[in-house]
Amino acid sequence: MLSQTSQDALDPAAVAQLRVAAAQASLRAYAPYSHYYVGAALLLQSGEVVTGCNVENVSFRLTCCAEQAAIARAVSEFGPAIRITAVAVANADTSLTCQPCGACRQTIAEFADSSCPIFYPGNAGKPSACTLADLLPAAFSADSMG
Ligand SMILES: [Zn+2]
Repeated sequence: MLSQTSQDALDPAAVAQLRVAAAQASLRAYAPYSHYYVGAALLLQSGEVVTGCNVENVSFRLTCCAEQAAIARAVSEFGPAIRITAVAVANADTSLTCQPCGACRQTIAEFADSSCPIFYPGNAGKPSACTLADLLPAAFSADSMG
C-alpha cells in the first residue's frame, strides 16, 4: 500500500513507487509480436497498488493492454466498487513514449475521476504526467446514456 498526502496531491515518493511498479510489470509483459512491453500500476483509493502488463495474441485484436489487464485484476481482487486514484504506465524500453491508448483511456474513465493523474513516459521516455481529462476530454460516461 502506498501512502497519500491527500486525494489530490500524491506524495512524490508514492509517484516514484508507482512508476517503479509499472516498470517492473513491463518486464512480465507477453509481447512476442510487437516487442512493445508495457506495464501499468494502479493506485486504488484503498491504497492498494495493482499492476498489469500487456498480453498479446497471434490474433492481434485479442491483445490485452497493460492498463486493462491491471483494471481487470483490480476488479477481480477487490470488487466492482474500486476507484483508481492514480495510474502509472511504463515501457520496458525506457527510451519510448508510452501513453495509454484510446481504449485504455476509456477503461480508466470507468473507474477514475477526470482529475486522476496519469504518469507515463513522454517524449524519448522522459517522465511525464497529465490528468485523465487531458487524455480523454470528452469521455463517454454513464451520464452520456441519459
Ligand atoms: Zn491500451
